[in-house]
Amino acid sequence: AVLAAASLGNLSETWGEVSAAAGAAERIGELLKAEPQVKAPAQPLALPARVSGAIRFDEVSFAYPTRPHTRALRGVSFAIRPGERVALVGPSGGGKSTVFQLLERFYDPQGGRILLGEDDIRRCDPEAVRRQMALVPQEAVIFADTVRANIRLGRPQASDAEVEAAGRAALVDEFTAKLPQGWDTPVGERGVTLSGGQRQRIVIARAILREAPILLLDEATSALDAESEKLVQTALEHSMAGRTSLVIAHRLATVLSADRILVMEDGRIVDEGTHAELVAKGGLYARLATLQFSQTT
Ligand code: ATP
Repeated sequence: AVLAAASLGNLSETWGEVSAAAGAAERIGELLKAEPQVKAPAQPLALPARVSGAIRFDEVSFAYPTRPHTRALRGVSFAIRPGERVALVGPSGGGKSTVFQLLERFYDPQGGRILLGEDDIRRCDPEAVRRQMALVPQEAVIFADTVRANIRLGRPQASDAEVEAAGRAALVDEFTAKLPQGWDTPVGERGVTLSGGQRQRIVIARAILREAPILLLDEATSALDAESEKLVQTALEHSMAGRTSLVIAHRLATVLSADRILVMEDGRIVDEGTHAELVAKGGLYARLATLQFSQTT
């Protein structure tokens, strides 16, 4: 549910280009409707040009405006160090996507604070907060345009060389190299039909191009074939390098490589540790690990 709204933050800066893409208008309409109303403060606190990546939730409680009596988060506290790789796991409805929504300041919590470095994001312009983050949504949204244009959405001012470098880091060149028009091949409705894994790599390239210090990744749940899975996993590894990353994890490889796993249930963090530590405890995580994670490595 988070993803439509969260993608908008990244796309709104590129409105002109996006709306030029055929078929995009309707989609953008949907996204706009989904945008919640958080206003920038009259005198917003200026964040550093590039935040350190330190993130802190301090006793955060939150209910969605449409369901004011049901708290989606109930006193959530955690701290993430710069460069750390943290996985969020837990049963459906536990609050994982809500953590992303609040971190991107699509809503403000009713209780507690969210800090980027030392700065309470409530005092910052929401757009400035979102500029520090690159989101890889669960559903890869690809527009009817060229591969190059689709990657460039991550940072419209990027040069061709930068777009291609991001494409290579996300292994997009693995398939564009085989296409007659390379990076300039039209894809989507009126072009080449892409596989699920290829779409995901384009979206990962978009996030890499964004060069944000914080990566928010909502991992796709759909199964890919083993070869495609490996390529996506490598692309994700590249996207996380040198960034602080927070991942809603569905894949075993991801939880295995996380520095730390936060287990969420019923709007709370109920446990944390590495995969091995949590499996050894034999609690909720151990049960989830056998049920939920696709056994790909
Ligand atoms: P999933 O794994 O299914 O995505 P999740 O752990 O991400 O689940 P959230 O989507 O954060 O969980 O949901 C936490 C709670 O908030 C749930 O009770 C959910 O129904 C509710 N919720 C989520 N999004 C909204 C929304 N936009 N409006 C109202 N309630 C919402």
